[in-house]
Amino acid sequence: MRLTGARVASGPRAAGRRDVTVRNGRILLSVMAGIREKELDLTGYLLLPGLINSHDHLEFNLFPRLGQGIYSNAREWAADIFHPDVSPVREHLSIPMPIRLVWGGLRNLLSGVTTVAHHNPCSADVFEAGFPVRVLRHFGWAHSLDFSPDLADRYHNSPRNQPFILHAAEGIDQKAVGEILRLDAMGVLSPRTVLVHGLAIARPEIELLLRRRSSVIWCPGSNLAMFARTLSREALSSGIPIALGTDSALSFAGDMADELSTASQHGVTPEELYRMVTSTPASILRLRDGRGWIRHGGAADLVAVEDHGQTPAEALLELRPKMVMTAGRIRLLSGSLPRAVAGPLNHIHVEGRGDYYVDVDVRHLDAEARHALGSDYTLAGRRVAA
Ligand SMILES: [Zn+2]
Repeated sequence: MRLTGARVASGPRAAGRRDVTVRNGRILLSVMAGIREKELDLTGYLLLPGLINSHDHLEFNLFPRLGQGIYSNAREWAADIFHPDVSPVREHLSIPMPIRLVWGGLRNLLSGVTTVAHHNPCSADVFEAGFPVRVLRHFGWAHSLDFSPDLADRYHNSPRNQPFILHAAEGIDQKAVGEILRLDAMGVLSPRTVLVHGLAIARPEIELLLRRRSSVIWCPGSNLAMFARTLSREALSSGIPIALGTDSALSFAGDMADELSTASQHGVTPEELYRMVTSTPASILRLRDGRGWIRHGGAADLVAVEDHGQTPAEALLELRPKMVMTAGRIRLLSGSLPRAVAGPLNHIHVEGRGDYYVDVDVRHLDAEARHALGSDYTLAGRRVAA
């Protein structure tokens, strides 16, 4: 397929008009003459790399936000919200896991995400080619110090060339902040260690993480809902590699577009935000196929938005994807782009956002959700209709 007429992002500030050829899931930026290709005219659109969501729990995205906050640490929150035999948790858990996971994938697709780091065991059979987004495959993980007594073993037994991802310092009390030193004493802070949240870190922990060259995943929407606080400006500008994640709807009623807008209100520039959902997570999560960039030979994971002359970074501040492509396949169209260029797409209406056509069996998902929850359910805080 040839994507013509768009301005194409080459970084957070730069974009230039050029045609992009997509073949076998890869981007070709040099012109290949003499081959007949389908064409999608993207004149009036800006093409961005597909976004990377560095933290989600895909199976929890039909849930309403649970808990009344403000908590001291994540253990307190978990004890408050997790009552599997009580409504509404009981009804939500009655929806089959594969269905809940696909809903989570759809929440991401609708906001321009093409790769997600799902924090739970990888359901390889569910995350096959039909899944709405790519899900990180090659990583080690533990839940957290509180819920993973085997954390050190999990770290040492996971491949050294893969990221090791865990929740850490998710809270605002001494218990939370003390987790960084405990992890260091266990020998699990290294360049491949990825700490989700790190909310409580101050100067001593920041310096330690810089020395260990570990990374942090920032989920501001979730942090603010649970703790009325998020990463400090000192942490955000410390030089620690930081990528953005949404966490699940249990703690954040929104999607990546909402998370980008929340993050932009907490002292980071649009250019920093752009890196937090493209090149930085690609490096932290060790994605080696060109994801996070639009470059020759790289993965054809792309998002088109309306072009108002904004920089690629500015385009993230009110992100409304009109086309999403993953591995060369169109997964979402919206607005006036012609649907004939894609395979069969299904309609979904999202409250406050409008109509989308997606490469997902929305009717089936909707029927399963209605069966358990009635017609009034939400996807990460928004009503949806097939
Ligand atoms: Zn989490």
